[in-house]
Amino acid sequence: MPEVSIDYDICIDCKTCVSICPMGVFKDEGDKVSVVAQDECIACMGCVGACPVDAITVVE
Ligand code: SF4
Ligand code: SF4
Repeated sequence: MPEVSIDYDICIDCKTCVSICPMGVFKDEGDKVSVVAQDECIACMGCVGACPVDAITVVE
């Protein structure tokens, strides 16, 4: 199963990953975005490409 992680040292909390992920892996928790449904990830890499600061890593 893919492993999804966010580097909070560089994340700018833009929420793009929340809206772009087709599987609802990310959740906007107000002060930050969390990975809440890693089990659902299909490794489409949409979030990796869309994150403006390359804060997301998906390891298959
Ligand atoms: S790789 Fe695709 S399915 Fe997985 S978290 Fe990113 S956007 Fe969602
Ligand atoms: S797209 Fe990148 S910078 Fe934006 S909230 Fe997600 S991880 Fe953070």
